[in-house]
Amino acid sequence: MATFRGFDYMAIEEELTDEQRMVRNTVRDFVDREFLPVVKTHYRAGTFPLALVPRLGELGLLGSSLSGYGCAGIDSVSYGLVMQELERGDSGLRSFASVQGALVMYPIRSYGSEEQKERWLPAMARGKAIGCFGLTEPDHGSDPESMKTRAVRDGDHFVLSGAKMWITNGAVADVALVWAKLDGVVRGFLVEKGTPGFSAPEIHSKLSLRASVTAELILDDVRVHRSQMLPGVQGMKGPLSCLTQARYGIAWGAVGAAMACLDEALRYTSERTQFGRPLSAFQLTQAKLADMLTKTTTAQLLAWRLGQLKDRGKMVHTQVSMAKRNNVRAALEVARTARGMLGANGISDEYQVMRHMCNLESVETYEGTYEIHTLVLGRDLTGHYAFGPQ
Ligand SMILES: Cc1cc2nc3c(=O)[nH]c(=O)nc-3n(C[C@H](O)[C@H](O)[C@H](O)COP(=O)(O)OP(=O)(O)OC[C@H]3O[C@@H](n4cnc5c(N)ncnc54)[C@H](O)[C@@H]3O)c2cc1C
Repeated sequence: MATFRGFDYMAIEEELTDEQRMVRNTVRDFVDREFLPVVKTHYRAGTFPLALVPRLGELGLLGSSLSGYGCAGIDSVSYGLVMQELERGDSGLRSFASVQGALVMYPIRSYGSEEQKERWLPAMARGKAIGCFGLTEPDHGSDPESMKTRAVRDGDHFVLSGAKMWITNGAVADVALVWAKLDGVVRGFLVEKGTPGFSAPEIHSKLSLRASVTAELILDDVRVHRSQMLPGVQGMKGPLSCLTQARYGIAWGAVGAAMACLDEALRYTSERTQFGRPLSAFQLTQAKLADMLTKTTTAQLLAWRLGQLKDRGKMVHTQVSMAKRNNVRAALEVARTARGMLGANGISDEYQVMRHMCNLESVETYEGTYEIHTLVLGRDLTGHYAFGPQ
């Protein structure tokens, strides 16, 4: 299979270091050679290619922006390029790496005890252990602070009760980072697979992100030792700081999905002839391609600038909201347009566009919906809180 060439209309390539290019090309090659040949089978079956997890570890793609404990410690732009290339393969592949790295390894690295770091980070970096992040509940999605999951102290233990919903990697995770309220304050607990009272039934009804495992987490009086609570953070800062990291990766990932769709639409319309000419020779087709290229490029520029700010320690969460909101919507629009441009073939899984389009519906919803990020930006601009009653 030919290695993907990508799009670089604003000459970002010139700004990349040799290391950043090398990281991007390594992941690009992995996706082309090892992931794309199997994704269709997994998407149809509704499974994630778990056999590739140790390979992701070997390539240093799990928790790659973290330092120490076996993590690769790459810079933020390199990390973004990793996410871009993984999602160029499939949003499910990027979701796996995002959850593992940004939502589980990052909080353990930032807020965990030394024992927790030693226990989980090297194994998770190698892909020998899988993590999941349990924040959303059946009745509390956009407003996680209203969560019902509770932790009650019992000597040296805590007893957790409640339920989490739509948890990526849930059914295959060795450890779940569960956010629960202890005396009314949100805390993070590392719950191990097999703990009595804890189960993670898989959700099989998805028409989106099918090559990704999603589960419910059921906590029925689950006893965890006090050493399993993250000692270094309390309140919503815990989960929200993880989400900022993951949303940064999504902003880049969406660029990858958009590039894959633009590439496929460009190739298809160049090769397919109707009314005696290639589809790409019609003005209506060119207008679509011009819009798709512009959306993809503006998303790419936002992601790249965000990466520069992050590396300089200057990135703020509202900028991440802007990039997540814009880039996922842009990618979704590119994917929907590309789907139409392939005609009937656009609905077939012999092509990628509909898979990306369906995936991006989830990406637009998770990690803060489009509307929630709109409200974040609205509050930042006006100072008014418009999420609901204060
Ligand atoms: C495939 C998939 C994987 C996921 N993985 C994880 C995971 O690993 N861990 C995890 O914790 N969660 C995960 N989620 C859950 C995800 O984060 C939530 O679905 C998301 O936060 C939205 O919550 P909700 O689905 O309950 O929708 P709701 O909050 O009920 O929102 C429904 C609609 O109402 C809108 N809305 C809500 N509030 C307002 C408002 N104030 N003003 C205007 N509109 C509003 C929303 O934008 C949305 O359009 C996943 C979801 C999916 C689909």
